[in-house]
Amino acid sequence: MSSWDTDERRALRASARRFTEAEIAPHLAAWEEAGTLPRELHRKAAAAGLLGVGFPEEAGGQGGSAIDTLVVAEEIIQAGGSSGLVASLFTHGIGLPHLVEAGNKALVDKVARPVLAGEKIVSLAITEPDAGSDVAGLTTRAVRDGDGYVVDGAKLYITSATRADFFTVAVRTGGDGVGGISLLLLERDMPGVTVSAPLKKMGWLCSDTAELTFAGVRVPAEHLIGEENAGFYAIMGQFAAERLSLAVQAYATAQRCLDLTLAWVRDRRTFGRPLASRQVVQHRVAEMARQTDVARTYTRAVIDDWQAGKNVLSQVAMAKNTAVAACDFVVDNAVQLHGGMGYMRETEVERHYRDSRILGIGGGTNEIMTEIVAKLLLA
Ligand SMILES: Cc1cc2nc3c(=O)[nH]c(=O)nc-3n(C[C@H](O)[C@H](O)[C@H](O)COP(=O)(O)OP(=O)(O)OC[C@H]3O[C@@H](n4cnc5c(N)ncnc54)[C@H](O)[C@@H]3O)c2cc1C
Repeated sequence: MSSWDTDERRALRASARRFTEAEIAPHLAAWEEAGTLPRELHRKAAAAGLLGVGFPEEAGGQGGSAIDTLVVAEEIIQAGGSSGLVASLFTHGIGLPHLVEAGNKALVDKVARPVLAGEKIVSLAITEPDAGSDVAGLTTRAVRDGDGYVVDGAKLYITSATRADFFTVAVRTGGDGVGGISLLLLERDMPGVTVSAPLKKMGWLCSDTAELTFAGVRVPAEHLIGEENAGFYAIMGQFAAERLSLAVQAYATAQRCLDLTLAWVRDRRTFGRPLASRQVVQHRVAEMARQTDVARTYTRAVIDDWQAGKNVLSQVAMAKNTAVAACDFVVDNAVQLHGGMGYMRETEVERHYRDSRILGIGGGTNEIMTEIVAKLLLA
């Protein structure tokens, strides 16, 4: 039996599907229009036992492994949710792990417990206006002053930032380069923290995104996450989880668009026959299925190796690019086979087409993934 198909994971999958069909799918169009998710959804997801999956019980989570978290994301998308919904409802999947791993009990009680209970929201703030792919070039500075730090700088494109209560922020505490970066926990109501209006985006419309500015923000020294100047390595350590999650979101989006397209081509008639009766259409959906299955099979195999403790730095990058390429192909063809209806906002594949464009940009771009693979090949 595959590690993705145990009795427990089948039950978890069923519970994520039930939750999506009852609490997400009927409201998603309205949340896309509103540009945000209701806080109540976080509480409901916590009550349904989904929000804390993959986080230890000592930190307020439900326990389980990264595969459990990914099963939930996969099923939410395949049951009628979206990658944008997953990105926003589970922003703590990128915002919390460094803090939980560092194991500072006071911070875990203050941040992780209420976030995993659906009461509070945490964002991860790494990207800056002049430092995205080049994380080591970030310039937001935290200067030690008495019993704390004073933070000045700006962060850009931060998911869930207009709603977040807490921010896990990458700051420069030391010299230039990778060795001078730390992680600090900032709070929304600290004097000097400003959150911009929601940024207007192509997709992920239900997921709010904002810019943060920090002007002389005083942060207690106890808000340091992990060791001072070891933040870059903590960030890199968590990138595998984020990249594999984006790969899962990509193949799950492809699977959902394939399912929607199969139903459509059986139903839609042109020139007196269903679209599905044309060989060119049959071959197109077969190719969509092939690319989706290859992406899923490869990504899951890499995740299994990662969970087994193998060094999969290069394979994670290859999985992300493989799944994103499959998703790009499938969403494009799903829209094409839906014809004019594929271009309409009321059509689900139209949303996936826009939403999925970010998957090859966020969490490390396609080009940066290729760079990692090339460097390791030629090292
Ligand atoms: C909707 C959305 C949500 C996001 N959420 C978050 C979040 O929650 N937290 C967060 O910290 N960040 C977030 N980001 C930021 C995201 O991670 C960055 O946009 C991404 O890492 C790329 O950085 P950049 O935008 O600065 O692009 P750049 O680094 O400026 O890259 C521009 C282009 O140049 C290419 N490029 C860069 N360097 C090289 C090179 N050496 N060789 C070849 N090509 C290169 C890139 O691949 C890309 O095509 C989000 C972004 C978006 C759009």
